[in-house]
Amino acid sequence: MTTLYRPELLLANGQFVSDAGLLVSDEGKINAVVASDAPSDTVVDLPGKALLPGFINVHSHSFQRLIRGKSESRVTSGKDFWSWRGTMYHAAANLDPQQVYDVARMAFLEMALAGTTTVGEFHYLHTSPAGASYEDPNLLSKQVIAAARSVGIRIVLLRCAYLRSGFELPPDPGQTRFFETAPTFLANMEALVRETPVASSTVRLGVAPHSIRAVPLDDLREIAAWARREKLPIHMHLAEQVAENEACLREYGATPVALLGRAGLLGPDWTAIHAIHITADETAMLAASSTTIGSCPTTERNLGDGVLAADQVMKAGISIALGSDSQAQIDSLEDARELDYHLRLTHQQRAILDQIDGQALAARLFDCATINGARSLAVHSGTLMPGAFADFFTVDLRDIAIAGHSADDLLPLIVFGMNRTAIRDIAVNGNLIVRNARHPLEAEIISRYAEVHAKVWHASCGVPQ
Ligand SMILES: [Zn+2]
Repeated sequence: MTTLYRPELLLANGQFVSDAGLLVSDEGKINAVVASDAPSDTVVDLPGKALLPGFINVHSHSFQRLIRGKSESRVTSGKDFWSWRGTMYHAAANLDPQQVYDVARMAFLEMALAGTTTVGEFHYLHTSPAGASYEDPNLLSKQVIAAARSVGIRIVLLRCAYLRSGFELPPDPGQTRFFETAPTFLANMEALVRETPVASSTVRLGVAPHSIRAVPLDDLREIAAWARREKLPIHMHLAEQVAENEACLREYGATPVALLGRAGLLGPDWTAIHAIHITADETAMLAASSTTIGSCPTTERNLGDGVLAADQVMKAGISIALGSDSQAQIDSLEDARELDYHLRLTHQQRAILDQIDGQALAARLFDCATINGARSLAVHSGTLMPGAFADFFTVDLRDIAIAGHSADDLLPLIVFGMNRTAIRDIAVNGNLIVRNARHPLEAEIISRYAEVHAKVWHASCGVPQ
């Protein structure tokens, strides 16, 4: 059985083409881009729409959706990343398993409506509010996976190791629910691998040592070796903040990326989340090891983290993927365009990332939001090539932000000018989970989320209590 999706335009090999369709197998994989009159068992016409591969969001903390709008004040959240964490810890402190599920569904629904077909969920809520293991220590991981399945989005659950508060720091009570020992983490990870059906195409796993401040080097070696035996992707926050680099320098005599590079830990299965404060030598280490950088520009500007030197990084040949991180905004295209926009402000020039290796700017940024993310999460998606998962979205060509285009300027129009409200249909694994911008569970998901929000922030004006 096959299904042929017939849009007005289709993005194939970086070019919009007409009179073409996407032929999808009943296993949810792409057979080929074919002529629009090619034979198929079923035909789905998508008139007035363009069809593009779905976005891959490599770095999400779904529960942080709760702090959107609650941390934009120095009164409640202080002046920097470190004090902002107080607001974030407050949101995490008392969520029960049902609420973890409800909040994750809300974040994943918004991602789906924004064209995201795969999320890499960097998950570090593990224990009860008191710090006790649940009867199933993977309960909260499974709640987040269940939330993704409910929405229909593909998930790579990156289970996080969070072993300490930091170098020479006492345990922070705000991190109580994150902590495990290294042996416990590995035992729980092994159980999760055992219990997750290997044949599942929409649920995959990965390993996420939180950061060098939270995972000492010896434990990191052990966790990375285990992940590599299991052939799982490894994601880690690296060089997001200058203070994090300084603490690493005090503890090990090296900054985080250099430490990992010298330890031989970097590699094509490794994604360095942020990698903002890195030296030229560290850029060379990331490039030589084929490590991906997971950049999160909407969050990084929200937190005042700094600006990724995307020009230097791309010229070195490093692949950049994108993540929504704190959920300050959920919009992969906004993350993509900010890679260039932040550099424009820094350099007082335009189109900084254009023509690196001869590639046009919009196509390069679109790759960051799609195929680069697929590589980071080790899923065959983010492309319309034969054999990839049939994960795609459509946009309304009559939408006010992009109407009036030619085949040449449509991709720049979409990357730089489109709002997510132009996105109409979302397919994951060949199933349309959103049709005409409507998800069947939308009303229920939003109302349940609103209840959780009211409980978390009850009677407070956003001040962590
Ligand atoms: Zn993060």
